[in-house]
Amino acid sequence: MDIVKNAWPNPYLPPIDLELPTLHLKSNNGFTKLDPGSSLRLYVCGITPYDATHLGHAATYLTFDLINRYIRASSGDVHFVENITDIDEPLLDRANRDGINWSDLAQKETDLFTRDMTALRVFAPEWFVPATQVMDLVDSAITAMIKNGFVYTVENDLYFKVSSFLGDLPISEEEAISNFAERGGDPARVGKEHPLDPVLWIANRDGEPGWDSSHGFGRPGWHIECAVISLRYLLGATFLQGDTSREALIDIQGGGSDLIFPHHFMSAAQVKAITGQKFARGYVHTGMIGFNGEKMSKSKGNLVFVSKSLQEGIDPMVIRYALISGHYSTDRMWTEEILSNAIADVARIRGALSRMEVAPTGTVVSHIAISLANDLDTPSALSALLQWVQATEGGATGGSAGEVARALDSLLGLAF
Ligand code: ZN
Repeated sequence: MDIVKNAWPNPYLPPIDLELPTLHLKSNNGFTKLDPGSSLRLYVCGITPYDATHLGHAATYLTFDLINRYIRASSGDVHFVENITDIDEPLLDRANRDGINWSDLAQKETDLFTRDMTALRVFAPEWFVPATQVMDLVDSAITAMIKNGFVYTVENDLYFKVSSFLGDLPISEEEAISNFAERGGDPARVGKEHPLDPVLWIANRDGEPGWDSSHGFGRPGWHIECAVISLRYLLGATFLQGDTSREALIDIQGGGSDLIFPHHFMSAAQVKAITGQKFARGYVHTGMIGFNGEKMSKSKGNLVFVSKSLQEGIDPMVIRYALISGHYSTDRMWTEEILSNAIADVARIRGALSRMEVAPTGTVVSHIAISLANDLDTPSALSALLQWVQATEGGATGGSAGEVARALDSLLGLAF
């Protein structure tokens, strides 16, 4: 796996003639405000490439794409970095189960992800960075944390001392300990100073891949990769020193709501341990997507994959429309009905946009912008759009189909 700049072709962003309001995103500490035309440092936690991209992943990446598009459409400057967790237990387990090389599996699934994101018209990260390519950064970051007194050893593994950050826990300590065990942590390991301390560097186990480092031969724990990748690729050469000119080092760290704890909490704590500074101004989390009334999960075998849906002939714009027809932050279901409604709506929208005469368009375009500015309220934006479609179908005239088409494409990523 290589570090890739501009990992896939960016979609065309048609210019829109519209003053966009300040974008308000609901985050851990109220609302994070992003001004139109500003410079955005956005870090989105990427995939662990052991399986194809399912609709839950797609919904997450589409959400951050809406933020990316909003700032780009307002002539702002977006610095967007995403990692690939191409070394971790789930990947090694799947490769062992299927008798294939873990690195080949990671490459294959990352290629598939790239194709899915291209089809869905998601802007590519400026830097798409596999964990296996940043071992030198992990090494220096751990050295900095040792110097700052945040590291201890259990047998030959290095652990991060989390105690001084527990005041920032997004959930109760009891709940955190229980979640930690389900999400890759080892609260019960004997010899740890605190049950919530996460492993930073895992000394090599027989048969597992490993890397040389000043801390022994081994591999990194999960959270440190996002800490170092975001700092290095969003801040540049001074990543270990941080950037004291800013209230926080980056604007947004994003991902699914299953990353609130431990992953985002731990990466923020580690960034603070390295640089002494606050990591992100805000954390934005997307809801989980279920399927026909159940949680979508690999153990239930009910994952709906983007690549499979595309192979079955579903239009990627229908998938995009269906996923943003619900609000990003809510847990929601993917059902046959949502899909068939999206197919019908998209056909009607295309019909309206292809008419010679369409209903007046100024109001619908500004309604879409205002809805997005209000915590990416895509259901409200699409409802205004459908009202406009209805008025057009009813014979109203005086608008410009091109104006609506450009706004849908630019702001919502829906190219019709
Ligand atoms: Zn991450």
